[in-house]
Amino acid sequence: MSKSLQAIRGMNDILPEQTPLWRYFEGTVARLLDNYGYRQIRMPIVEFTELFKRSIGEVTDIVEKEMYTFDDRNGDSLTLRPEGTAACVRAVLEHGITGGGQVQKLWYVGPMFRHERPQKGRYRQFHQIGLEVFNLDGPDIDAELIVMTWRLWGELGLRDAVKLELNSLGTSESRGRYREALVEFLSAHLDKLDEDSQRRLKTNPLRVLDTKNAETQAILVDAPKMADYLDDESRAHFEGLKARLDAVGIPYVINPKLVRGLDYYSKTVFEWVTDKLGAQGTVCAGGRYDGLVEQMGGKPTPGVGFAMGIERLVLMLEALDKVPAELSRQVDVYLCAFGEAAELAALALSERIRDQLPNLRLQINAGAGSFKSQFKKADKSGALYALILGDDELAQQVVGFKPLRGQGEQQSIAWDALAAHLATCVVQG
Ligand code: ATP
Ligand code: MG
Repeated sequence: MSKSLQAIRGMNDILPEQTPLWRYFEGTVARLLDNYGYRQIRMPIVEFTELFKRSIGEVTDIVEKEMYTFDDRNGDSLTLRPEGTAACVRAVLEHGITGGGQVQKLWYVGPMFRHERPQKGRYRQFHQIGLEVFNLDGPDIDAELIVMTWRLWGELGLRDAVKLELNSLGTSESRGRYREALVEFLSAHLDKLDEDSQRRLKTNPLRVLDTKNAETQAILVDAPKMADYLDDESRAHFEGLKARLDAVGIPYVINPKLVRGLDYYSKTVFEWVTDKLGAQGTVCAGGRYDGLVEQMGGKPTPGVGFAMGIERLVLMLEALDKVPAELSRQVDVYLCAFGEAAELAALALSERIRDQLPNLRLQINAGAGSFKSQFKKADKSGALYALILGDDELAQQVVGFKPLRGQGEQQSIAWDALAAHLATCVVQG
């Protein structure tokens, strides 16, 4: 196939074999968030480029090199969203739903776009479930976010495979004092820093802590630590968070180098990491961004949120064999009809059954193929039972009921009794 007729590198189709697992994952998260009182919001996939520059920060990997930016027909610069927080903040401001200190607990799901080097767990179109809370500034809400994800890992069977890393970046005042100390320290070692870090030292010094360069990392061992610069407020907030995690029994490690790639964070930052996916180890990441709303033109509004990467979590469920067995079966009952008259009766009968059993997964295969080939299809579908409707059954107003898995003989069941019979033998999830 010519290249221009193929999918774009790093942008994947999610095929029918994979969608049950995606739906299971997304459904599990959605139910959990409902239960904790979070409400879904849906934002556009495209926004003005300026929105991302302003919120994420000009000197970040995302804005410097990862955005899909283009001019539309009016000459406006637009960008495919690389993340959800900026658009979510834009939306709450535009609709005034955080005004007057109104608390909003919001979540969203959908594709994000970053021009990165595609590899396992890293794509150019990927999917996140994200969550943002506005107008709550205490550590209790930071803790709630983490507690919810901990519950999610429990439901998915992933608890043993993930680790929580925590840090506090402090208020902007304490971060400012820390930045000065860090710049002073790193400037004394300028010639030994890698090129990227030299550049970041001028533009965004905290990001140097994030470096993958071994020599720079060695220098950082003796660098000043953010923890020593936290003011009382930041310190109390961080202690409050840790006390809550301890109360629930959630293990964590403090990672003083955790700064996150975006500019807008303050106080709490956290990542859930795994060693089961190779280099792409962060499955969920977030933190507090008390200054962001104001920075984007709103009233001062505390905020905290996180995003998880769906591809990485789906990969993890597969790698750790945590895909629920029932996902492999998508059909409960397969109805085979033979002959024109029987086919009409089968359609009418199947609609009656669906009225009575709205959750039944019933597939109908009418007219096409011999008895044998229809049976093969019924078996391949994974269905538990086949229903057979030919001329003889039509004359007697019955169906042949044949178990396809396990024991049991074929029996004849009257149309009127069919729904009740199916209700007893098909266990519906
Ligand atoms: P990384 O350090 O892996 O690049 P990040 O810090 O850029 O991640 P965030 O912007 O915090 O990631 O996004 C939150 C989550 O979204 C990540 O933890 C990850 O699970 C997922 N994610 C981010 N970028 C990608 C990508 N290109 N492909 C797949 N998933 C991604
Ligand atoms: Mg990244």
